[in-house]
Amino acid sequence: MGGAQTNLGCLGQLLGLLGFRIHPAATEQLPYRLRDDFLSPAELSFFRVLQLAIGDRWVISCKVNLTDLFFVPRGEGQLSWRNRIDRKHVDFVLCDPATMHPRLGIELDDSSHQREDRQDRDLFVNEVFDAAALRLLRIPAARTYSVSDIAAAIEGEVGQSAAIPPVPPSSKDPICPKCGIPMVQRKATRGANRGGSFWGCSNFPQCREVIRG
Ligand SMILES: [Zn+2]
Repeated sequence: MGGAQTNLGCLGQLLGLLGFRIHPAATEQLPYRLRDDFLSPAELSFFRVLQLAIGDRWVISCKVNLTDLFFVPRGEGQLSWRNRIDRKHVDFVLCDPATMHPRLGIELDDSSHQREDRQDRDLFVNEVFDAAALRLLRIPAARTYSVSDIAAAIEGEVGQSAAIPPVPPSSKDPICPKCGIPMVQRKATRGANRGGSFWGCSNFPQCREVIRG
């Protein structure tokens, strides 16, 4: 800190009193700035309708990176599959208020979604959600929305829980029903089964599938 920052002078003190923040010299500052468009006007207007449509039934998470929602089980190609989702996000995710478990993704599709490159991206994102058995609701961006239509569309989607396709076994060890890879034997260190052994997924903690054994 040089004298220039500690001695702000009369003008600096006045600005401080008026609520302006005095920044140190630009050269000492990290190059991060707060975006003014965290939600675009179209997203914000839909967000308000979404709040009315769901009340306190769900918690809305905005702009969730797909790697926060999904993981790729260990194995061949794990990194490249992960790379395909790590710069993508979904506009909104509705979560269970008690557990914050994601229950529904919502994409607000504006006119850019008609572009060919966008359509490829959208198709891939649809497949990612399908693979992980999380529903994704696409809503065309509009000037106005019907709160009751949005509420009904959400209930329709959440009511349909997609089943995860069964994975054929390929070894003697139990296979994680979610990831399709052999599970590993572990010893319970706490709980009612303490000291007993169980099979857990090697993708723990991203996958918490367990089989007693
Ligand atoms: Zn698993």
